[in-house]
Amino acid sequence: MKIGNKFPGKDISPEDLATKFPLVVRKDPQHKSRFTIAGVEFGGALVPVFAGPNMVESRDLVLDIAHNVKQAGAHFLRGGAFKPLTFPYRSEKYNETREQGIEWLADAKARYGIPIITEVMEEKYIPLVAGVADILQIGSRNMQNYPFITACARTGKPIMLKRHYGASLRDWLGAAEYIMVEGNSQVILCERGVSVPHTHRATSRFLLDLQVIPAAQEMTHLPVVIDPSHATFWRPWVAPMALGGIAAGADGVMLEVHPDPSNAAVDPLQPVDYAEFGNLMTRMDAVAQAIGRKVIS
Ligand code: PEP
Ligand code: MN
Repeated sequence: MKIGNKFPGKDISPEDLATKFPLVVRKDPQHKSRFTIAGVEFGGALVPVFAGPNMVESRDLVLDIAHNVKQAGAHFLRGGAFKPLTFPYRSEKYNETREQGIEWLADAKARYGIPIITEVMEEKYIPLVAGVADILQIGSRNMQNYPFITACARTGKPIMLKRHYGASLRDWLGAAEYIMVEGNSQVILCERGVSVPHTHRATSRFLLDLQVIPAAQEMTHLPVVIDPSHATFWRPWVAPMALGGIAAGADGVMLEVHPDPSNAAVDPLQPVDYAEFGNLMTRMDAVAQAIGRKVIS
């Protein structure tokens, strides 16, 4: 294949579409990937929900959350044991639980039968995390760490690739091609908010790019999910953005849920509590049904 790069642009050019990501690109307007992970179908009528804490804080917490989100209809338990925290300093509470956290996720999965999505950050931990996770989460900060994403792809595990907050659609799809070129076709794209001048609140660092949902779906057959919790960084905005994202065609939603949001170890402004989550599941399902899809399976 002869790849030209004479006029590399911020956005996707017809030349890019023809040559740069042959595996990721949609073959025709009807082309949409469908695959099933742990019995949950992606890319079809169902809009799967990944719910759980930002950080896997303790065994009791993760078991309690697993039980509650599963009862409310969540399809996957989310939660980070390995966390890309912005600064290197840690207090006792604000501490990654690492190998132990992965064990607690395994306990939750065994006890409640809920599949797991969790982040892996370093190549040396891929076997450990892949042993428990049904979906490996590549965080926004690692989106363009090509040797790392290649190593994740080679596990053959489904992968959710979070978009970096400064990445173009071109960058994002290019990174997805790195996974697919390894023969791994179970790739989920996740929009988690981008850096822009105005986010309408001092504590909100990102803006959920709703427009990237149809834009990505115009180019790729891969499912596109949204993470309104990380995008808004503000609990009252999570539900409206989740509902808006489903209306805009999102193929899944990741939500932070915590029984006592203001005491969450990491990012306490963004999780919803159990009651809000249950209520939101019902409302998301109603919006999904309005466009011929569903959230509650
Ligand atoms: C997360 O989902 O816990 C996370 C750290 O997300 P992001 O990589 O999008 O910041
Ligand atoms: Mn976070």
